[in-house]
Amino acid sequence: MSLKIQVKNTRHGNPGVSGWYAILPEAEPARVLQEDITADWLVIGGGFAGLSAARRLSQLRENESIVLLDSIRIGEGSSGRNSGFMIDLPHDISTDSYAGAVEQDVLQTRKNRYAISFAAEVAEEYGFTQEVFNPCGKINAAASESGDRHNREYVEHLKAMGEASTWLDAAEMQRITGSEYYLSGLLTPKTVTIQAAAYTRGFARGMSEKVDIYEKTPVIALERTNGFWQARTPKGSVKASKVILSVNGHLQSFGFMQSRLMHIFLYASMTRAMSTDEVNKLGGEPSWGVAPANPFGSSVRKICGVGGHRILMRNKFHFNSSMEATERDVQKAVRDHERSFQRRFPMLKGVEMEHRWGGRLCLSWNNVPVFGELEKNMFAACCQNGLGVSKGTLSGILAAEYACGFQNPYIEDYLNEAQPTRLPPEPFATIGANAYLNWQEWRAGLEK
Ligand SMILES: Cc1cc2nc3c(=O)[nH]c(=O)nc-3n(C[C@H](O)[C@H](O)[C@H](O)COP(=O)(O)OP(=O)(O)OC[C@H]3O[C@@H](n4cnc5c(N)ncnc54)[C@H](O)[C@@H]3O)c2cc1C
Repeated sequence: MSLKIQVKNTRHGNPGVSGWYAILPEAEPARVLQEDITADWLVIGGGFAGLSAARRLSQLRENESIVLLDSIRIGEGSSGRNSGFMIDLPHDISTDSYAGAVEQDVLQTRKNRYAISFAAEVAEEYGFTQEVFNPCGKINAAASESGDRHNREYVEHLKAMGEASTWLDAAEMQRITGSEYYLSGLLTPKTVTIQAAAYTRGFARGMSEKVDIYEKTPVIALERTNGFWQARTPKGSVKASKVILSVNGHLQSFGFMQSRLMHIFLYASMTRAMSTDEVNKLGGEPSWGVAPANPFGSSVRKICGVGGHRILMRNKFHFNSSMEATERDVQKAVRDHERSFQRRFPMLKGVEMEHRWGGRLCLSWNNVPVFGELEKNMFAACCQNGLGVSKGTLSGILAAEYACGFQNPYIEDYLNEAQPTRLPPEPFATIGANAYLNWQEWRAGLEK
């Protein structure tokens, strides 16, 4: 049976240029699709999910041709503009606690680690430096009594899961971060921190001998005729037997899961490179990453390497069903970043933010992904919810395996998930979600 999907929203630009992307050497010119081509597989979307799906396909179907399309440059989208925590331990981003049910969390941790080990193979094979892929763990930093309490409760939860963690007191937190701001921290050793744009760009480059990658090539329509899918782009087309859609929230633009996906913007800023004098004033270790003890607080990364010594601040959530954020939204978030930065680093007066940006993540109300065969020979690896770096990687791997008929017990888990539940109608969804996010951020207090 024939089917035609008109892609509704092809404006995929994100507000601001991510610092991760800006500090990289200039990218080679984009390879834009300008002809009609044929392949065995088409992967749409070149974030964590799409790149991982394409790599897994290239492992499972060595002799088959694979094309990957992205509407923008790889590394410019959410996968290249996040805080760079590839996290093993689970949390539901819509709650104010990291702890869930023990059994479920043990299983999710196992899955996240499966994804992280896949990413570690990528890093190894493509020669990523420690600046790009660093298995250094993550510290949940507490700046208030309530954050400290959160961390203590979390230790107990980790113990119940059989997970190791290290308690850090205020002096140790200062030794690592240079800041007197934190009361305590909890180090969990198996998170990896990445240079998000370098990771995604390096992943694509490393894979380019096996996968035909086109950037700045949005899919504007998808049509199935005589058992083949044909993706139309502004200057060409791809005809393929099987398609993997790894476009996260943009799944909605393809006509699926209408009124069931929540588009949340997150914002980050990165300082200019600091002088030697400023780096010495700060002290601490050359690079580190802290996530907030309260999920609605600030993530902070100190990085050093190609772009010099810099600090990244990430906070502020904002629901927007139109999937668009404006420069004004970014400016508002930056004011929060500056405030959070000054509180933590009073010794760095005069170190201003050089890069500021926002990006989307996609959640469902009931915290479930969209996975499986949406139409005959069209598979989805979308709606990652929280921990999208690990979960995006995992869903891409599993979508490729499922499409190839490869057996993996995690596929069954994904297939058994419920569908995303329907959201309240507009404007109630937007008003309700933003009221909730603002309230949680207010409650996060000094953690922000
Ligand atoms: C500021 C910020 C901080 C974050 N921090 C973290 C963090 O520390 N840890 C974590 O786990 N998560 C974090 N996230 C979330 C994480 O980045 C996302 O969950 C993750 O990128 C999802 O990966 P994905 O591959 O599913 O989707 P995406 O990265 O969104 O990739 C989808 C791709 O599909 C492409 N696409 C869409 N439509 C089309 C089309 N029609 N044609 C062609 N291409 C198309 C898009 O251009 C995009 O590149 C953060 C997000 C932001 C914005």
